[in-house]
Amino acid sequence: MSGAEPPTIAVDTASVAALERIGRLDTHGHAVLSVYVDLDPSRFPTPGTRMSQIGSLLEEAHRQAGDRELERVARWLETDPEAVRGAHGLAIFSSSEAGVLEAVRLPRPVTPLAVVDLIPWLEPLAAEISPGEWGVAVISRRAARLLRGGPDRLTQFALIEDDLYRRHSQGGWSQARFQRGIEEQVAAHVRRVAERLLRAHLRARFSDLVIVCSGELRPLVERELAGELSGRLAAILDSDLEHASVERIARTVKPAIERAEDDRERALIARLQQGLGTGGPAAAGLDEVLSTLEQERVATLLIPERGALSAGRCPICGRLSTDGGATCPLDGSRLVEVDALAYAVEEAVRQGADVVTARHQSQWLAEHGEIAAALRW
Ligand SMILES: [Zn+2]
Repeated sequence: MSGAEPPTIAVDTASVAALERIGRLDTHGHAVLSVYVDLDPSRFPTPGTRMSQIGSLLEEAHRQAGDRELERVARWLETDPEAVRGAHGLAIFSSSEAGVLEAVRLPRPVTPLAVVDLIPWLEPLAAEISPGEWGVAVISRRAARLLRGGPDRLTQFALIEDDLYRRHSQGGWSQARFQRGIEEQVAAHVRRVAERLLRAHLRARFSDLVIVCSGELRPLVERELAGELSGRLAAILDSDLEHASVERIARTVKPAIERAEDDRERALIARLQQGLGTGGPAAAGLDEVLSTLEQERVATLLIPERGALSAGRCPICGRLSTDGGATCPLDGSRLVEVDALAYAVEEAVRQGADVVTARHQSQWLAEHGEIAAALRW
């Protein structure tokens, strides 16, 4: 490393083009440190607080990346404050071995994250660009493409190429041993893909997952998917999409995910219907749902895809009222109108409840007050 000279880098803005460019960076098999920094001024108002966030992030990656990489990133951040002005988050990709140092300004705050891998870790950046909770993996014997998004758009966040054949091309091996070596490497490749999918899921949960692979790989894929992921599996499709456009991948997986969503909504509604009919653990309508949220009884929240629900929030005690009154019944303060749907979702997530959006069964929800919940008790 060249003395204390801080590196200068071009800072890109979050876009599909930036994501594709970084996804194609060739690191020649060297490790890349990917760091996501939260620059939300309400949480990290000063350079000092930002640096301490980065310090703890880097500690996390330290064992794998070594000092050199971390120093490089920290030094750049310290010396180039202009680069972060006005951004709410920052993604940095650094590999001094491969001569890579890239940064992308993010329009929204991001959960801090540091990852060392052989590929730039683009999943949080993809989530910024295509909101949605669908996960897709296109897996072949030597490569994989991981995507995230929703009904409107999928974005590829990782391109994994495990070049098996080259490593085994040196002579001296019998054909049988060569073949066995290859099969072991295919299994290791599928395992690495499954690990990366799980990492993406643990950061921001997939609602549904579709795997696209050949019938030959299918048993291997099924074996390697962690329980957490196999529970999200909508389908394994047999198709060759290794070189297909993202649009074509989206068209292929969409019907399978929509079917899974519809099944899930129908099952939830059947459960709600039964609970509501028998006085069982179910709630419908904003008033009831808010009070069950307050009691932390919600297991699964069902919300409309579009539409708004508002409530009056007391600025003193924080209580939400849905009866349309202008003042808090407890302390007489003037209520402020708030987005009750956003509040309910945030509260449900905080309590660890599932949130299901009624994309296909909106009629039932409209007839039951636009919000409902299956309860724990
Ligand atoms: Zn009050």
